[in-house]
Amino acid sequence: MAKIDWKAEVEKRKDSLLSDLQGLLQISSVLDEREATKEAPFGKEVKKALDYMLALGTRDQFQTKNTGNVAGHLEMGKGKGLIGILGHVDVVPAGDGWSVAPFSGVVKDGRIYARGAIDDKGPTIAAYYGMRIVKELGLPLEKRVRLIIGTDEESDWRCVDHYFKVEEMPEMGFAPDADFPIIIAEKGIADFDLVQDTKDETRGQAPVTLVSFMSGLRYNMVPDHAKAILDIKEGNTEIIQMFEDFLDSQDLNGKYYVDSGYSIMELHGISAHGSEPDKGKNAGLLLANFLSTLELDPRGQEYVKAAVEFFFGDSHGRALGVAYQDDLSGELTINVGKLSYNEHEGGLFGLTMRYPVTFPIDEGMETIQRSSAKSGFRVGHYSNSNPHHVPEDSPLIQTLKAVYEEQTGQTAELLAIGGGTYARSLGSGVAFGALFPGRPDVAHQKDEYMELDDLWQATAIYAQAIYELAKKG
Ligand SMILES: [Zn+2]
Repeated sequence: MAKIDWKAEVEKRKDSLLSDLQGLLQISSVLDEREATKEAPFGKEVKKALDYMLALGTRDQFQTKNTGNVAGHLEMGKGKGLIGILGHVDVVPAGDGWSVAPFSGVVKDGRIYARGAIDDKGPTIAAYYGMRIVKELGLPLEKRVRLIIGTDEESDWRCVDHYFKVEEMPEMGFAPDADFPIIIAEKGIADFDLVQDTKDETRGQAPVTLVSFMSGLRYNMVPDHAKAILDIKEGNTEIIQMFEDFLDSQDLNGKYYVDSGYSIMELHGISAHGSEPDKGKNAGLLLANFLSTLELDPRGQEYVKAAVEFFFGDSHGRALGVAYQDDLSGELTINVGKLSYNEHEGGLFGLTMRYPVTFPIDEGMETIQRSSAKSGFRVGHYSNSNPHHVPEDSPLIQTLKAVYEEQTGQTAELLAIGGGTYARSLGSGVAFGALFPGRPDVAHQKDEYMELDDLWQATAIYAQAIYELAKKG
Protein backbone atom coordinates (compact mmCIF):
# COMPACT_ATOMS: atom_id res chain seq x y z
CA MET A 1 0.00 0.00 0.00
CA ALA A 2 1.21 3.49 -0.83
CA LYS A 3 2.45 5.57 2.05
CA ILE A 4 -0.26 7.80 3.43
CA ASP A 5 0.39 11.53 3.58
CA TRP A 6 -1.46 12.30 6.81
CA LYS A 7 -0.74 16.01 6.67
CA ALA A 8 -2.22 16.25 3.19
CA GLU A 9 -5.33 14.43 4.39
CA VAL A 10 -5.73 16.96 7.20
CA GLU A 11 -5.15 19.80 4.72
CA LYS A 12 -8.13 18.64 2.65
CA ARG A 13 -10.43 18.79 5.66
CA LYS A 14 -9.26 22.01 7.36
CA ASP A 15 -12.39 24.02 6.62
CA SER A 16 -14.88 21.50 7.90
CA LEU A 17 -12.69 20.71 10.93
CA LEU A 18 -12.55 24.38 11.83
CA SER A 19 -16.27 24.92 11.44
CA ASP A 20 -17.12 21.79 13.47
CA LEU A 21 -14.75 22.99 16.20
CA GLN A 22 -16.23 26.49 16.20
CA GLY A 23 -19.71 25.06 16.59
CA LEU A 24 -18.57 23.12 19.65
CA LEU A 25 -16.68 26.08 21.13
CA GLN A 26 -19.80 28.22 20.86
CA ILE A 27 -21.59 26.04 23.41
CA SER A 28 -20.91 27.37 26.93
CA SER A 29 -20.70 23.91 28.43
CA VAL A 30 -19.96 24.85 32.04
CA LEU A 31 -21.29 22.61 34.82
CA ASP A 32 -24.55 23.99 36.19
CA GLU A 33 -26.02 21.81 38.94
CA ARG A 34 -28.90 24.23 39.53
CA GLU A 35 -30.55 23.35 36.27
CA ALA A 36 -29.71 19.64 36.45
CA THR A 37 -32.36 17.27 35.12
CA LYS A 38 -32.36 13.58 34.35
CA GLU A 39 -31.82 14.38 30.66
CA ALA A 40 -29.09 16.89 31.46
CA PRO A 41 -27.46 15.94 34.79
CA PHE A 42 -24.74 18.60 34.48
CA GLY A 43 -26.93 21.32 32.96
CA LYS A 44 -28.40 22.13 29.54
CA GLU A 45 -25.26 23.49 27.90
CA VAL A 46 -23.09 20.54 28.90
CA LYS A 47 -25.70 18.19 27.47
CA LYS A 48 -25.86 20.29 24.32
CA ALA A 49 -22.11 19.76 23.82
CA LEU A 50 -22.51 15.99 24.21
CA ASP A 51 -25.42 15.96 21.75
CA TYR A 52 -23.37 18.06 19.35
CA MET A 53 -20.59 15.46 19.26
CA LEU A 54 -23.04 12.60 18.86
CA ALA A 55 -24.73 14.47 16.00
CA LEU A 56 -21.36 14.88 14.23
CA GLY A 57 -20.92 11.13 14.56
CA THR A 58 -24.34 10.41 13.11
CA ARG A 59 -23.75 12.86 10.25
CA ASP A 60 -20.46 11.13 9.40
CA GLN A 61 -21.87 7.61 9.79
CA PHE A 62 -20.22 6.47 12.97
CA GLN A 63 -22.02 4.25 15.46
CA THR A 64 -23.00 6.56 18.30
CA LYS A 65 -24.27 6.00 21.80
CA ASN A 66 -25.39 8.22 24.62
CA THR A 67 -24.46 6.64 27.96
CA GLY A 68 -26.78 7.89 30.68
CA ASN A 69 -26.66 11.50 29.41
CA VAL A 70 -23.28 11.93 31.14
CA ALA A 71 -21.00 10.48 28.46
CA GLY A 72 -21.19 8.88 25.05
CA HIS A 73 -19.15 7.48 22.21
CA LEU A 74 -18.59 7.43 18.45
CA GLU A 75 -17.31 4.18 17.06
CA MET A 76 -16.01 2.78 13.80
CA GLY A 77 -14.81 -0.55 12.50
CA LYS A 78 -15.38 -4.17 13.37
CA GLY A 79 -13.48 -6.74 15.35
CA LYS A 80 -13.10 -7.90 18.90
CA GLY A 81 -10.37 -5.53 19.98
CA LEU A 82 -11.16 -1.95 20.97
CA ILE A 83 -8.96 1.14 20.87
CA GLY A 84 -10.26 3.99 23.05
CA ILE A 85 -9.70 7.71 22.78
CA LEU A 86 -10.95 9.76 25.69
CA GLY A 87 -11.75 13.47 25.47
CA HIS A 88 -14.14 15.82 27.22
CA VAL A 89 -16.45 18.64 26.14
CA ASP A 90 -17.20 20.31 29.49
CA VAL A 91 -15.20 23.44 30.29
CA VAL A 92 -14.36 25.55 33.34
CA PRO A 93 -16.13 28.93 33.61
CA ALA A 94 -14.77 31.66 31.34
CA GLY A 95 -13.81 34.09 34.14
CA ASP A 96 -12.92 37.71 33.50
CA GLY A 97 -10.42 39.68 31.49
CA TRP A 98 -10.87 38.20 28.01
CA SER A 99 -9.95 40.29 24.96
CA VAL A 100 -12.40 38.28 22.79
CA ALA A 101 -15.79 36.75 23.53
CA PRO A 102 -14.93 33.49 25.36
CA PHE A 103 -17.54 31.39 23.56
CA SER A 104 -17.01 32.68 20.04
CA GLY A 105 -14.24 30.47 18.65
CA VAL A 106 -12.83 33.47 16.81
CA VAL A 107 -9.71 32.96 14.67
CA LYS A 108 -7.04 35.63 15.03
CA ASP A 109 -3.31 35.65 14.21
CA GLY A 110 -3.23 31.94 13.46
CA ARG A 111 -4.91 30.95 16.68
CA ILE A 112 -8.41 29.86 17.60
CA TYR A 113 -9.61 31.49 20.81
CA ALA A 114 -12.28 30.22 23.22
CA ARG A 115 -12.76 28.63 26.58
CA GLY A 116 -12.06 24.98 25.79
CA ALA A 117 -9.86 25.65 22.73
CA ILE A 118 -6.96 23.62 24.18
CA ASP A 119 -8.82 21.98 27.10
CA ASP A 120 -10.34 19.95 25.64
CA LYS A 121 -12.57 20.71 22.67
CA GLY A 122 -9.76 21.44 20.19
CA PRO A 123 -7.90 18.18 20.94
CA THR A 124 -11.16 16.21 21.00
CA ILE A 125 -12.13 17.47 17.54
CA ALA A 126 -8.57 16.78 16.33
CA ALA A 127 -8.92 13.18 17.50
CA TYR A 128 -12.36 12.97 15.89
CA TYR A 129 -10.96 14.11 12.56
CA GLY A 130 -8.15 11.62 13.00
CA MET A 131 -10.80 8.90 13.12
CA ARG A 132 -12.68 10.42 10.19
CA ILE A 133 -9.58 10.44 7.99
CA VAL A 134 -8.87 6.77 8.71
CA LYS A 135 -12.51 5.92 8.03
CA GLU A 136 -12.78 7.93 4.81
CA LEU A 137 -9.57 6.42 3.44
CA GLY A 138 -11.24 3.03 3.86
CA LEU A 139 -8.14 1.56 5.47
CA PRO A 140 -8.40 -2.07 6.61
CA LEU A 141 -8.65 -2.27 10.39
CA GLU A 142 -8.53 -5.22 12.71
CA LYS A 143 -9.94 -3.41 15.73
CA ARG A 144 -12.76 -1.07 16.50
CA VAL A 145 -11.91 2.52 17.39
CA ARG A 146 -14.06 4.48 19.79
CA LEU A 147 -13.99 8.16 20.72
CA ILE A 148 -15.41 8.44 24.24
CA ILE A 149 -16.83 11.82 25.20
CA GLY A 150 -16.84 12.79 28.87
CA THR A 151 -18.80 15.74 30.23
CA ASP A 152 -17.65 16.09 33.86
CA GLU A 153 -13.86 16.04 33.60
CA GLU A 154 -13.47 19.51 35.11
CA SER A 155 -15.36 18.55 38.27
CA ASP A 156 -15.87 15.05 39.60
CA TRP A 157 -15.34 12.65 36.69
CA ARG A 158 -18.89 11.32 37.21
CA CYS A 159 -18.96 10.84 33.41
CA VAL A 160 -16.18 8.25 33.18
CA ASP A 161 -17.14 6.67 36.51
CA HIS A 162 -20.55 5.88 35.08
CA TYR A 163 -19.35 5.15 31.57
CA PHE A 164 -16.83 2.48 32.53
CA LYS A 165 -19.28 0.90 34.93
CA VAL A 166 -21.64 0.09 32.07
CA GLU A 167 -19.49 0.13 28.90
CA GLU A 168 -16.57 -1.90 27.63
CA MET A 169 -13.07 -0.91 28.77
CA PRO A 170 -10.83 -0.48 25.69
CA GLU A 171 -7.80 -2.74 25.61
CA MET A 172 -5.62 0.32 25.15
CA GLY A 173 -5.93 3.95 24.25
CA PHE A 174 -5.01 7.54 24.84
CA ALA A 175 -6.47 10.76 26.18
CA PRO A 176 -5.77 13.91 24.15
CA ASP A 177 -6.20 16.04 27.30
CA ALA A 178 -2.71 17.04 28.43
CA ASP A 179 0.73 17.36 26.84
CA PHE A 180 2.71 15.93 23.95
CA PRO A 181 4.79 13.87 23.64
CA ILE A 182 3.55 11.07 25.94
CA ILE A 183 2.85 10.96 29.67
CA ILE A 184 3.58 7.38 30.73
CA ALA A 185 3.63 7.80 34.51
CA GLU A 186 1.33 9.73 36.83
CA LYS A 187 1.90 9.74 40.56
CA GLY A 188 -0.69 8.47 43.00
CA ILE A 189 -2.87 11.12 44.60
CA ALA A 190 -3.75 10.82 48.29
CA ASP A 191 -5.88 13.66 49.63
CA PHE A 192 -6.38 13.70 53.37
CA ASP A 193 -6.71 15.85 56.47
CA LEU A 194 -4.58 15.85 59.56
CA VAL A 195 -7.00 16.74 62.33
CA GLN A 196 -5.96 18.11 65.70
CA ASP A 197 -7.10 15.73 68.41
CA THR A 198 -6.44 17.78 71.53
CA LYS A 199 -9.49 18.38 73.71
CA ASP A 200 -10.84 21.88 74.16
CA GLU A 201 -9.16 23.69 77.02
CA THR A 202 -10.13 26.85 78.74
CA ARG A 203 -8.23 29.79 77.45
CA GLY A 204 -4.94 30.00 79.28
CA GLN A 205 -3.18 32.99 80.64
CA ALA A 206 -0.92 33.16 77.57
CA PRO A 207 -0.23 36.66 76.25
CA VAL A 208 -1.77 35.72 72.91
CA THR A 209 -4.70 33.44 72.07
CA LEU A 210 -5.07 32.12 68.55
CA VAL A 211 -8.79 32.63 67.92
CA SER A 212 -8.81 31.43 64.33
CA PHE A 213 -6.59 30.74 61.37
CA MET A 214 -7.64 30.33 57.72
CA SER A 215 -5.68 29.67 54.58
CA GLY A 216 -6.57 27.93 51.33
CA LEU A 217 -9.70 26.22 50.06
CA ARG A 218 -8.47 23.36 47.90
CA TYR A 219 -6.14 20.44 48.41
CA ASN A 220 -4.58 20.87 44.98
CA MET A 221 -3.60 24.54 45.23
CA VAL A 222 -0.84 26.29 47.16
CA PRO A 223 -2.73 28.91 49.22
CA ASP A 224 -1.85 32.48 48.31
CA HIS A 225 -3.59 34.10 51.27
CA ALA A 226 -3.65 33.51 55.03
CA LYS A 227 -5.47 35.22 57.87
CA ALA A 228 -5.08 34.84 61.63
CA ILE A 229 -7.33 36.35 64.28
CA LEU A 230 -5.61 36.86 67.61
CA ASP A 231 -6.63 37.96 71.05
CA ILE A 232 -3.61 39.90 72.30
CA LYS A 233 -3.49 40.91 75.96
CA GLU A 234 -2.88 44.55 76.65
CA GLY A 235 0.73 45.59 76.94
CA ASN A 236 1.96 43.27 74.16
CA THR A 237 2.19 45.88 71.43
CA GLU A 238 5.67 44.74 70.41
CA ILE A 239 3.97 41.88 68.51
CA ILE A 240 2.76 44.34 65.88
CA GLN A 241 6.30 45.53 65.29
CA MET A 242 7.53 41.95 65.15
CA PHE A 243 4.99 41.15 62.46
CA GLU A 244 5.96 44.16 60.36
CA ASP A 245 9.66 43.30 60.71
CA PHE A 246 8.89 39.74 59.69
CA LEU A 247 7.07 40.89 56.54
CA ASP A 248 9.99 43.19 55.64
CA SER A 249 12.68 40.62 56.25
CA GLN A 250 10.92 38.01 54.12
CA ASP A 251 9.84 40.51 51.47
CA LEU A 252 6.18 39.59 51.94
CA ASN A 253 2.94 41.48 51.45
CA GLY A 254 0.65 41.54 54.43
CA LYS A 255 -1.17 43.73 56.88
CA TYR A 256 -2.10 44.12 60.50
CA TYR A 257 -5.31 45.71 61.77
CA VAL A 258 -7.76 45.62 64.64
CA ASP A 259 -11.39 44.59 64.26
CA SER A 260 -13.93 44.37 67.14
CA GLY A 261 -11.08 44.28 69.63
CA TYR A 262 -9.27 41.40 67.87
CA SER A 263 -5.92 41.69 66.12
CA ILE A 264 -5.92 40.47 62.54
CA MET A 265 -2.86 39.45 60.56
CA GLU A 266 -3.06 38.79 56.85
CA LEU A 267 -0.38 37.66 54.50
CA HIS A 268 -0.05 36.98 50.75
CA GLY A 269 1.95 34.23 49.12
CA ILE A 270 2.07 32.81 45.60
CA SER A 271 -0.34 30.23 44.32
CA ALA A 272 0.72 27.15 42.34
CA HIS A 273 -0.68 23.76 41.50
CA GLY A 274 -0.66 21.33 44.41
CA SER A 275 1.36 18.78 42.46
CA GLU A 276 4.29 21.24 42.41
CA PRO A 277 4.23 22.94 45.81
CA ASP A 278 7.76 24.32 45.50
CA LYS A 279 6.65 26.51 42.59
CA GLY A 280 4.49 28.56 44.98
CA LYS A 281 4.87 30.34 48.31
CA ASN A 282 2.50 28.89 50.89
CA ALA A 283 0.90 31.87 52.69
CA GLY A 284 -0.51 29.63 55.43
CA LEU A 285 2.82 28.06 56.31
CA LEU A 286 4.56 31.44 56.26
CA LEU A 287 2.05 32.93 58.68
CA ALA A 288 2.12 29.85 60.91
CA ASN A 289 5.89 30.11 60.98
CA PHE A 290 5.65 33.67 62.27
CA LEU A 291 3.00 32.78 64.87
CA SER A 292 5.16 29.93 66.17
CA THR A 293 7.59 32.54 67.50
CA LEU A 294 4.90 34.03 69.80
CA GLU A 295 3.74 32.82 73.21
CA LEU A 296 0.37 31.41 72.18
CA ASP A 297 -2.26 29.53 74.16
CA PRO A 298 -1.42 25.78 74.35
CA ARG A 299 -3.70 24.51 71.63
CA GLY A 300 -2.98 27.35 69.22
CA GLN A 301 0.71 26.84 69.92
CA GLU A 302 0.45 23.13 69.18
CA TYR A 303 -1.28 23.86 65.88
CA VAL A 304 1.22 26.37 64.48
CA LYS A 305 4.18 24.33 65.79
CA ALA A 306 2.86 21.26 63.95
CA ALA A 307 2.51 23.28 60.74
CA VAL A 308 6.14 24.32 61.00
CA GLU A 309 7.50 21.00 62.20
CA PHE A 310 5.76 18.87 59.55
CA PHE A 311 5.70 21.12 56.54
CA PHE A 312 7.70 24.34 56.70
CA GLY A 313 10.51 24.21 54.14
CA ASP A 314 9.73 20.53 53.52
CA SER A 315 7.41 19.61 50.67
CA HIS A 316 8.71 16.03 50.50
CA GLY A 317 7.27 14.55 53.68
CA ARG A 318 10.65 14.16 55.41
CA ALA A 319 9.37 15.16 58.85
CA LEU A 320 6.39 12.83 58.51
CA GLY A 321 8.75 9.99 57.58
CA VAL A 322 7.49 9.34 54.05
CA ALA A 323 10.17 10.91 51.83
CA TYR A 324 10.50 8.62 48.80
CA GLN A 325 11.47 8.62 45.16
CA ASP A 326 11.77 6.27 42.21
CA ASP A 327 13.22 6.48 38.71
CA LEU A 328 9.83 6.11 37.04
CA SER A 329 8.12 9.08 38.58
CA GLY A 330 10.44 11.13 40.80
CA GLU A 331 9.92 12.43 44.31
CA LEU A 332 6.94 12.31 46.66
CA THR A 333 5.46 15.76 47.34
CA ILE A 334 3.02 17.06 49.92
CA ASN A 335 1.05 20.27 49.47
CA VAL A 336 -0.68 21.93 52.42
CA GLY A 337 -3.69 23.23 50.55
CA LYS A 338 -5.90 24.08 53.52
CA LEU A 339 -5.01 25.30 56.97
CA SER A 340 -7.85 26.03 59.32
CA TYR A 341 -8.13 26.45 63.06
CA ASN A 342 -10.53 27.87 65.56
CA GLU A 343 -10.25 28.03 69.30
CA HIS A 344 -13.33 25.89 69.94
CA GLU A 345 -12.77 23.04 67.50
CA GLY A 346 -9.02 22.95 67.04
CA GLY A 347 -7.37 22.78 63.67
CA LEU A 348 -6.70 20.79 60.55
CA PHE A 349 -4.34 20.59 57.62
CA GLY A 350 -5.82 19.59 54.23
CA LEU A 351 -3.12 17.83 52.22
CA THR A 352 -2.56 16.40 48.79
CA MET A 353 0.26 13.90 48.64
CA ARG A 354 1.54 12.98 45.18
CA TYR A 355 3.42 9.72 45.55
CA PRO A 356 5.66 7.81 43.14
CA VAL A 357 4.47 4.74 41.25
CA THR A 358 6.34 2.27 43.49
CA PHE A 359 5.53 3.93 46.84
CA PRO A 360 3.70 1.61 49.29
CA ILE A 361 0.72 3.82 50.07
CA ASP A 362 -0.85 1.80 52.92
CA GLU A 363 2.40 1.64 54.86
CA GLY A 364 2.96 5.30 54.10
CA MET A 365 -0.37 6.32 55.58
CA GLU A 366 0.37 4.28 58.71
CA THR A 367 3.67 6.08 59.05
CA ILE A 368 1.91 9.45 58.75
CA GLN A 369 -0.67 8.38 61.33
CA ARG A 370 2.13 7.46 63.77
CA SER A 371 4.27 10.54 63.25
CA SER A 372 1.37 12.98 63.44
CA ALA A 373 -0.09 11.32 66.55
CA LYS A 374 3.00 12.42 68.50
CA SER A 375 1.96 16.02 67.93
CA GLY A 376 -1.72 15.49 68.74
CA PHE A 377 -3.03 14.88 65.20
CA ARG A 378 -4.78 12.02 63.40
CA VAL A 379 -5.64 11.26 59.77
CA GLY A 380 -9.18 12.17 58.69
CA HIS A 381 -11.06 12.27 55.31
CA TYR A 382 -8.74 10.08 53.32
CA SER A 383 -9.21 9.52 49.58
CA ASN A 384 -6.78 7.85 47.24
CA SER A 385 -6.30 7.51 43.48
CA ASN A 386 -3.62 4.98 42.65
CA PRO A 387 -0.61 5.83 40.49
CA HIS A 388 -0.98 5.22 36.78
CA HIS A 389 1.77 3.79 34.63
CA VAL A 390 2.12 2.13 31.25
CA PRO A 391 5.45 0.35 30.61
CA GLU A 392 7.78 1.97 28.12
CA ASP A 393 8.20 -1.24 26.09
CA SER A 394 4.46 -1.82 25.62
CA PRO A 395 3.11 -1.79 22.04
CA LEU A 396 0.98 1.26 22.90
CA ILE A 397 3.96 3.42 23.90
CA GLN A 398 6.17 2.15 21.11
CA THR A 399 3.49 2.93 18.52
CA LEU A 400 2.66 6.42 19.80
CA LYS A 401 6.35 7.23 20.09
CA ALA A 402 7.09 6.20 16.51
CA VAL A 403 4.10 8.15 15.16
CA TYR A 404 4.97 11.30 17.08
CA GLU A 405 8.58 11.19 15.92
CA GLU A 406 7.61 10.61 12.30
CA GLN A 407 5.10 13.46 12.27
CA THR A 408 7.15 16.05 14.17
CA GLY A 409 10.76 15.08 13.51
CA GLN A 410 11.33 15.46 17.28
CA THR A 411 12.25 12.84 19.85
CA ALA A 412 9.20 11.71 21.80
CA GLU A 413 10.34 12.11 25.37
CA LEU A 414 8.38 9.97 27.82
CA LEU A 415 7.08 12.08 30.69
CA ALA A 416 6.19 11.45 34.33
CA ILE A 417 4.01 13.95 36.18
CA GLY A 418 2.56 14.58 39.64
CA GLY A 419 -0.83 15.64 38.36
CA GLY A 420 -3.55 13.23 37.36
CA THR A 421 -4.77 13.21 33.76
CA TYR A 422 -7.95 11.81 32.27
CA ALA A 423 -5.86 8.88 30.97
CA ARG A 424 -5.91 7.26 34.41
CA SER A 425 -9.53 6.31 33.91
CA LEU A 426 -8.47 4.12 30.98
CA GLY A 427 -7.07 0.79 32.17
CA SER A 428 -4.12 0.90 29.79
CA GLY A 429 -3.99 4.43 28.49
CA VAL A 430 -1.72 7.45 28.40
CA ALA A 431 -2.11 11.17 27.96
CA PHE A 432 -1.00 12.02 24.42
CA GLY A 433 -1.22 15.74 23.54
CA ALA A 434 -2.38 18.08 22.49
CA LEU A 435 -0.23 20.83 24.01
CA PHE A 436 3.14 20.72 22.24
CA PRO A 437 6.43 21.10 24.13
CA GLY A 438 7.41 24.73 24.65
CA ARG A 439 3.88 26.11 24.21
CA PRO A 440 2.49 28.11 27.15
CA ASP A 441 -0.24 26.28 29.02
CA VAL A 442 -3.32 28.48 28.64
CA ALA A 443 -5.88 25.93 29.85
CA HIS A 444 -8.22 27.52 32.44
CA GLN A 445 -6.70 30.97 31.70
CA LYS A 446 -8.29 34.00 30.11
CA ASP A 447 -7.82 34.18 26.32
CA GLU A 448 -7.41 30.41 26.07
CA TYR A 449 -6.38 29.45 22.54
CA MET A 450 -4.90 26.74 20.39
CA GLU A 451 -2.42 27.46 17.58
CA LEU A 452 -4.02 26.40 14.28
CA ASP A 453 -0.76 24.82 13.14
CA ASP A 454 -0.79 22.72 16.31
CA LEU A 455 -4.40 21.76 15.65
CA TRP A 456 -3.50 20.48 12.16
CA GLN A 457 -0.40 18.71 13.39
CA ALA A 458 -2.25 17.07 16.29
CA THR A 459 -4.91 15.85 13.86
CA ALA A 460 -2.29 14.26 11.60
CA ILE A 461 -0.63 12.61 14.61
CA TYR A 462 -3.94 11.26 15.90
CA ALA A 463 -4.97 9.99 12.47
CA GLN A 464 -1.76 8.02 12.05
CA ALA A 465 -1.80 6.80 15.66
CA ILE A 466 -5.37 5.53 15.31
CA TYR A 467 -4.48 3.73 12.13
CA GLU A 468 -1.31 2.15 13.52
CA LEU A 469 -3.06 0.98 16.69
CA ALA A 470 -6.07 -0.51 14.92
CA LYS A 471 -4.70 -1.73 11.58
CA LYS A 472 -4.47 -5.32 10.40
CA GLY A 473 -1.33 -6.80 11.89
ZN1 LIG B 1 -9.13 18.70 30.28
